[in-house]
Amino acid sequence: MQQRFIGKNILVTGASTGIGRAIAVRLAQEGGNIAVNYSRNDVEAGKTAERVRAAHDAGGYANAKCNLHKADVSQEQPVNDMIGEILANWGRLDVLINNAGIQKPAASHESLTADFDRILGVNLRGCYLCSRAAIRHFLSREGGGAIVNNSSVHEIIPKPKYLSYSISKGGMENLTKSLALEYADRGIRVNAVGPGAIVTPINMAWIDDPVARGEVESHIPMGRAGEAEEIAAVFAFLASGEASYITGQTLFACGGLTLYPEFRVAWSSGE
Ligand code: NAD
Repeated sequence: MQQRFIGKNILVTGASTGIGRAIAVRLAQEGGNIAVNYSRNDVEAGKTAERVRAAHDAGGYANAKCNLHKADVSQEQPVNDMIGEILANWGRLDVLINNAGIQKPAASHESLTADFDRILGVNLRGCYLCSRAAIRHFLSREGGGAIVNNSSVHEIIPKPKYLSYSISKGGMENLTKSLALEYADRGIRVNAVGPGAIVTPINMAWIDDPVARGEVESHIPMGRAGEAEEIAAVFAFLASGEASYITGQTLFACGGLTLYPEFRVAWSSGE
């Protein structure tokens, strides 16, 4: 395992489960101090903290730290308070991972305004609020900083019946690029990861159902869903100094889903 985050202070939002937990553990395996954000589930957040501490112990990082921060990322004051607490505890933040995200299916013409507001609130407003607070801090001291957003293949692929989710990830592409351009000359890099279908709680609808899972995986050129750890590895790269000349990009980690899988066989040219 590499050691790219020794002495770095990292906030991972929505880290009580799924990809967020895997990112927290991965960055801890590389020596990072991890602030675990979560909105509701104290038990699952505690499990993430346990795994982070186990990763620190296994790596021999005796001085590495892990703190829990309960805050709804869609709410301005709790976000500002959370960043304030991290700075009060550790004096500095180096990396922000905007991972928190939700979705809910509905035919678009029957969808509820309240659900639209909630999904955009967590996925996009939350990303804005956390990024703004982090950038204010990055600009206040030397050394810049890195932000990595958890987007989706649905940043560029439409997702019928998940309109709010699709819009939030499409917006995240522009948020990533606009912030990257605005702060590129001040040592702040802003990138995103675009996962495909990953085995996490957000996909409970098909993960444990062999028929449904087979259907999902039949659409993926690599023939399988991804693991959270495979996504966490991409976050670790983009958050690290190894990606020092990369900003404003979304790196898709999706088993080929963005490659127009329907074109695996020629059907449009007569052969
Ligand atoms: P998940 O449901 O395990 O993770 C989402 C996390 O966000 C949860 O821990 C949840 O508690 C947290 N959260 C929700 N509302 C919050 C709020 N208001 N404040 C703080 N945290 C909040 O599912 P996941 O798959 O790990 O999703 C993580 C991210 O990955 C999401 O942004 C999702 O859109 C993205 N993603 C997932 C997949 C996939 O196939 N699993 C694919 C593409 C993108």
